[in-house]
Amino acid sequence: MFLHDKFGRRISDLRISITDRCNYRCVYCRSGNDGPQFPEMPIADYVRIASIFVKLGITKVRLTGGEPLLRKGIVEMVGELGRMRTLDGSPLDIAVTTNGHLLAEMAQPLADANLTRVTVSMDAVEAERFARITRVPNGYEHVLAGVRAAQQAGLNPVKINCVLLRGFNDDQITAFGRFAREEGVAVRFIEFMPLEEDRVWSPEIVVTLDEIVRRMKEFMPLREIAHARSETARRYVFEDGQGEIGIIAPVSHPFCGHCSRVRVTSDGKIRTSLFSVREHDLAGLMLGGASDDEMIEFIRHAVDQKEERHHIGEPGFIPASRTMVHIGG
Ligand code: SAM
Repeated sequence: MFLHDKFGRRISDLRISITDRCNYRCVYCRSGNDGPQFPEMPIADYVRIASIFVKLGITKVRLTGGEPLLRKGIVEMVGELGRMRTLDGSPLDIAVTTNGHLLAEMAQPLADANLTRVTVSMDAVEAERFARITRVPNGYEHVLAGVRAAQQAGLNPVKINCVLLRGFNDDQITAFGRFAREEGVAVRFIEFMPLEEDRVWSPEIVVTLDEIVRRMKEFMPLREIAHARSETARRYVFEDGQGEIGIIAPVSHPFCGHCSRVRVTSDGKIRTSLFSVREHDLAGLMLGGASDDEMIEFIRHAVDQKEERHHIGEPGFIPASRTMVHIGG
């Protein structure tokens, strides 16, 4: 029953983008001029797609975007996902990745709808820098309130995603270490990948895992802790056990060999890698009246063609056919 690709990887993790609209214009993600580019489907269509993937052994669903909290109906969607059961009869692991701007008011309703966890993206822990990165004034207070509301609602441990760009926010590394300890959140640094609208990526701008660990250790020694094979983050705690740091290093330490993910875009296309150059039009099939069995067959065929690995930094690298905000990070 389970979904496998031709390299023998079991696919158990589905990411659904429910909009490519975003209320932030982060400098390393969006050009600042372009808006949404792809249509949204009714929430019921994403729910149907998720239910079919669950029949194929998916155990974890992450809602993303764009900014997923902009989408009316997300709480109801989480509720529907909460009623689904995996093939072994367990509840789904349901997560949301958000910029946190609207989280203060939505954390409790999402938790009540059985959301399992939330990841909040923050690329600075200082209001002015935060505004320069997001190009939105006063965002920092909203997001901090959102993080605390999520903790209050029991969505613990709240994870924070941070993308570091050399010369822009890499001086925030130790501030994030302090933030992890003081706020009781797990901070995950993600290496910057060439998926931005403005095509500013270069290897020099990437702050790598080794460098982050070295610089964080100057603040306070770290101890690496075990992580699951399919888990993308290398995990560390500070020597006194207070505060967790993770590093997701797709550029310097690629983990494609353990990838268990498949993505569905806001317009219902299957992407088998962030770096895919082709997509599989599941929405088109569904709107044409396909049965669940026909959709299952289509999904199996798409997943079978999952790319072996990405080619970031290699000669002849072909950029992905969409940028991050339109894929769903
Ligand atoms: N709006 C939501 C948010 O801010 O979390 C969800 C979508 S956002 C595209 C998801 C994540 O992708 C964010 O944590 C963001 O920092 C990260 N991201 C965007 N562009 C990236 C890039 N080129 N490389 C690595 N991570 C990136």
